[in-house]
Amino acid sequence: MKHANISIFIPHNGCPQQCSFCNQNRITGENHQPQPEEVAALLQSAAKQMGERVQNAEIAFFGGSFTAIDPDYRLALLKIAHAACETYGFAGIRCSTRPDAIDDERLTVLKQYGVTAIELGAQSMDGEVLLLNRRGHTAKDVENTARLIRAYGFELGLQMMTGLPGDSDAKAMKTVERLLALKPNTMRIYPTIVLENTPLCDLYRAGKYTPQTLEDAVSLCAKLIPMIEQRGVKLIRVGLHASEELENRVAGPFHPAFMELCRSAIFRENVLKALQARNDSEVTIDVDPRMLSVALGQKKENLQHFSKHGYTVHIRPDASLSGGTYRLR
Ligand code: SF4
Repeated sequence: MKHANISIFIPHNGCPQQCSFCNQNRITGENHQPQPEEVAALLQSAAKQMGERVQNAEIAFFGGSFTAIDPDYRLALLKIAHAACETYGFAGIRCSTRPDAIDDERLTVLKQYGVTAIELGAQSMDGEVLLLNRRGHTAKDVENTARLIRAYGFELGLQMMTGLPGDSDAKAMKTVERLLALKPNTMRIYPTIVLENTPLCDLYRAGKYTPQTLEDAVSLCAKLIPMIEQRGVKLIRVGLHASEELENRVAGPFHPAFMELCRSAIFRENVLKALQARNDSEVTIDVDPRMLSVALGQKKENLQHFSKHGYTVHIRPDASLSGGTYRLR
């Protein structure tokens, strides 16, 4: 059964400042702080709709810094979520937070109320990038907090961004290496999108910030994804979820199927390497039918790419292949 999150957004609550790029109201499409009784009703209705699938669903407090919100409000939400796990059988509770908003006391409470996973917004492990983007914490904070989360036995999630002011491809790769050294269970990568009412938007309008192009962001993420997956870390998401608010973004490399673009670029590079290692200029590739669109690329751009390099490539679905595999004939 497929995993699902019942996301409860607590936009900006608990954040001591506004990071350069962040406008949670636009990212999450929410600006309402949910009250415990609303959360209880939402979880009851989600459980009813999901039936047995509830066992694969986690209650997720996202959109702000959950461990930095008012302790009484946090406790009230935790009690509701914990009771919903006991009553309806949700698989667990996860939350996202800042690297400087975790300590023994807070972790003890999260543990007591059944939180299973904590996702830290690390964003970058480069001091200059953190400073320029008003993160208000250091790379050392990320390392110390990640270790503490693991020591308490929580599942550790780490989130990073690409294309922030002061960042570069080399710094992003270094960030991935340093985050992987912290042994996360899951990771997410978010290319920077310029949203209204953010300091980053002011910089962009003043001509002092150039966002990544879609092509650059895909090309970088196509390098980062294998680094992460080859280490056995589950990549939960690459690119922001499509939402009505993001339709009104100011600039940046948003695409509703961003991950598919990356997978397609990874396939293209791997196949090109394999073609260059052979003598044939015309090759047929059998692919798992579920990855046909990834293999072909948007508007069949992969075929054009191979052709530009002097190869005629035919891509055929083959029902005997599964798990995203393919075979060059
Ligand atoms: S800490 Fe997270 S939620 Fe808060 S302003 Fe920064 S990016 Fe946004």
